[in-house]
Amino acid sequence: MNFNLLRDLDLTNRSVFLRLDLNAPLSEGLIQDETRLTAVLPTIQYILERTHKLVLASHLGRPKGQSNRAYSLEPIGKRLSELLGREILLVQDYAEEPIDQLLKQLGKNQVILLENLRFHEEETKENEGFAKNLMKGIDLYVNDAFGALHRPHSSICAAALQVPRENRAIGLLVEKEIEALQPLMTQVRHPYTIVMGGAKVEDKMGVILHLLEHCNSLLIGGAMAYTFMEIQGVPIGNSFVEREKRALCQSILDRAQARKVEICLPIDHICGQALEASTPHQVVEGRAIPAGWMGLDIGPQTIRLFERHIQSASTVFWNGPMGVFEWAPFSQGTLKVAEALARCPGYTVVGGGDSVSAVNQARVARQISHVSTGGGASLAFLEGDLLPGLRVLQKKE
Ligand code: AMP
Repeated sequence: MNFNLLRDLDLTNRSVFLRLDLNAPLSEGLIQDETRLTAVLPTIQYILERTHKLVLASHLGRPKGQSNRAYSLEPIGKRLSELLGREILLVQDYAEEPIDQLLKQLGKNQVILLENLRFHEEETKENEGFAKNLMKGIDLYVNDAFGALHRPHSSICAAALQVPRENRAIGLLVEKEIEALQPLMTQVRHPYTIVMGGAKVEDKMGVILHLLEHCNSLLIGGAMAYTFMEIQGVPIGNSFVEREKRALCQSILDRAQARKVEICLPIDHICGQALEASTPHQVVEGRAIPAGWMGLDIGPQTIRLFERHIQSASTVFWNGPMGVFEWAPFSQGTLKVAEALARCPGYTVVGGGDSVSAVNQARVARQISHVSTGGGASLAFLEGDLLPGLRVLQKKE
């Protein structure tokens, strides 16, 4: 790995700025899912065993540069304090009053947590002055915010540049994510199956095109499938379709054909009459969807087809639901794909977002080789270009 690792840094009594992704879902101030907190505990603990001068920083939601109580990191800080057994000092005015003085007086049992970085519009603009303030009095920069590495924000890029290259490192979570995602692009074990779903083909375009260079089959479900079916001349009724993305879909089909990658689209469907949870629904056999109906999940024959591919693969990467899995009548395709990955004896990776919720809902996360903590970041990583947050942490350019 061409990155400084946490164990390459001499942390003893040095002050550390640790960028995390503590963007956990909150509802009325209560944390709904602690995955993002528990994922970074090993890094925090590793640092605290060597120095107590630690500043934690993260974004939460999209407060658009304004201070907003609904997006405060306070509940996250409280929970971190319980998990770490340390006092967390939530610091509000770090943009005007840098924390260098506070660091000097910091008690051995205290850890600084900066209030939501996105309360400041400078955070999302890569602002050097803001980054300088964040890093005042800081010796070492560590980034363990895997889910944010694809964003060239102040705390991700400009802040790292405030210390010499040898004083920057990736955290343990980022190291684990890179190690887990790399085998999907290099030294791949074949047969290699990619399962893509969800609504928007554009978000996944880069990743599909890049992974087509390595995989043997591409299974497409979710709303995305209907744009592909439409260009093949299959009737799709009122299914969700991105007409302006037809050229993109055609280029994926052409590329797949040139690379001899097998493309599997749904061969039957669960259809509804409207995009509503309580819409009447039925199984539609065959590829064509009748007028007045919309495909809202893959059907039982497609599930079996996808299961067969997944189970015989040595490597599987999955991103995006197979249907509107949030509603029970249309959740089976997604849950069955999650279960098929769990049964697959090969190397299986789930790439963040809705697919991770599905894996948790199906209670199979432990049977998956790697469940990524970053949806957008894992896709951006798999597009093959170096992420902006990693570029600044390279040992050498
Ligand atoms: P994305 O953010 O592109 O991964 O899309 C995820 C969303 O796609 C989820 O909220 C699903 O409910 C939705 N979705 C999946 N399949 C369908 C479908 N057949 N029709 C409409 N929406 C869908």
